[in-house]
Amino acid sequence: MEKYLVSARKYRPSTFNSVVGQKALTATLRNSIATDRLAHAYLFCGSRGVGKTSCARIFAKTINCTNRTPEGDACNECESCRAFNENRSLNIIELDAASNNSVDDIRALVDQVQIPPTTGRYRVFIVDEVHMLSQAAFNAFLKTLEEPPGYVVFILATTEKHKIIPTILSRCQIYDFNRITIQDMVDHLTYVASQEGISVESSALNVIARKADGAMRDALSIFDQVAASSMGNITYQSTIENLNILDYEYYTRLLDAFLNQDVPQALLIYKEIREKGFDSLFFINGLASHLRDLMVARDPKTLCLLEASDEARQSMAQQAVKCSPQFFYKAMALCNDADLNYRTASNKQFLVELLLIKLCQLLSPSPIDAGDGEGQLKKITPANATPQPQQPQQQPQPQPQTQPIDPAPTATVQQPVVVTATYSRIPQPIHPPQRRTGLKTPNISLKGGLKKAEDVAQAAVKQQDRNNNFSDQALDSAWETYISSHPTAHILINTMRVARPQRIEGNRFVIMVENPGQVELMKNALPDIISYLANQLSNDHISFEITINEGESSPHVWNSREVFAHMLQEVPHMQELVKRFDLTLS
Ligand SMILES: [Zn+2]
Repeated sequence: MEKYLVSARKYRPSTFNSVVGQKALTATLRNSIATDRLAHAYLFCGSRGVGKTSCARIFAKTINCTNRTPEGDACNECESCRAFNENRSLNIIELDAASNNSVDDIRALVDQVQIPPTTGRYRVFIVDEVHMLSQAAFNAFLKTLEEPPGYVVFILATTEKHKIIPTILSRCQIYDFNRITIQDMVDHLTYVASQEGISVESSALNVIARKADGAMRDALSIFDQVAASSMGNITYQSTIENLNILDYEYYTRLLDAFLNQDVPQALLIYKEIREKGFDSLFFINGLASHLRDLMVARDPKTLCLLEASDEARQSMAQQAVKCSPQFFYKAMALCNDADLNYRTASNKQFLVELLLIKLCQLLSPSPIDAGDGEGQLKKITPANATPQPQQPQQQPQPQPQTQPIDPAPTATVQQPVVVTATYSRIPQPIHPPQRRTGLKTPNISLKGGLKKAEDVAQAAVKQQDRNNNFSDQALDSAWETYISSHPTAHILINTMRVARPQRIEGNRFVIMVENPGQVELMKNALPDIISYLANQLSNDHISFEITINEGESSPHVWNSREVFAHMLQEVPHMQELVKRFDLTLS
């Protein structure tokens, strides 16, 4: 009966080619063997599980092989190779310095060094965790390391290169092992699964690879653990349950809550997480790394910093465009503060809830200062508040302040809505600004629009155009198809995603944006959007008003009667026009 072997042993690499994630390094090693340029001492550095010991063993086997392949690999068939593969070769001596670090241990090793090989050419001494040797042991070792017999090769391995004294470093050829990337691990695990006849979801392997944190050996033993408990069918769900990992899904939902400024939702998600038994500090750190990953996924230039499979990268990049870099900077700073304050907080749950509230406030019109250690919360927006649009690259232009000096500057900030202008395919009556004291001057001049009032009224009378009735859903889905047909207009589509049109009445809609920069952006884009919507919805009367949402209350938008009354008052020719064409409001 075949003995059960754990994957970490069964799939231990037996040639340089099968070492995962160290291509350049193994090529150099193999090349030095092929050209017979061996050093008498090597130092392999790198974190645990990256293949240092495996490479040392392969190296020892390869230099003793009597029938190397033309590429310089061990044949795995000659007597020496078989002895190595069966762990009975006398030409490899391993010492774990973590548990054998005394002078006596080193003296015993030095004695061994004096004995020449009975078969084969080289005796290879592997000293693992060499930084653990005591000072006296180091000293006892130095002379032998400097001038070993010709048949001896030392391979020293360490996870902490900085602890190796210079006298050792200068005597060794140094190889730095990479951390194994997630993608390399996922690829290797996929190979192992196919060899073992285990079905796997790649998202599950991704979770395993992340958990292994750069160590292939760990990845393989976690793989075994999950495979055993999921009866040969490794799914994402079975993996996160088995490893007690917080589902990525929670972070995605939380991000949506932050974007929607939905405090109650964020608190409820946190409650679910607590009830699943997850530690709050673990949660804060998980959220922080998720935000960090999204931030680097957002920009193609930094996408390489995201350690994930290609599939996961793509999905994160898609999520990340919903937020501005500024959002991520502030959110990460808030998580970091919470992490630092966690240990001293007497009420941990309160600390996390406060963090979540702050995160939900980041996109509110007067966001709290992220760096503000005092954590002042200015206000909590209702759960159903309008999401604030993001503008990733464009800096908001300063608000024109033609307003006389306001004695209480904060009062200006409290103004709920600034109506900026009306846009339609066929010019519609201009929607005038609200006459309120303390109102900010709209940044778009209304003069041009008002001058055209005469044409407007005439056009309205002469219209014989398409006037199909359409539902809000129809408009919304046309809005969406416009977005998806302009994938490269990132700034515009990000704004459009958040600033969804709301029907005022009839064919009039309002779009709420966050700042004058977005007004400009939408102003420039609207002619094209309106013409697109007109064709999609068979209606030439669609018009939009762009407003800057600056506060808590929903916009007071004038109804057509108010507009009409206003125009009668403001435009001298209006009375005459109304009379001549016998205009009434429908
Ligand atoms: Zn061989």
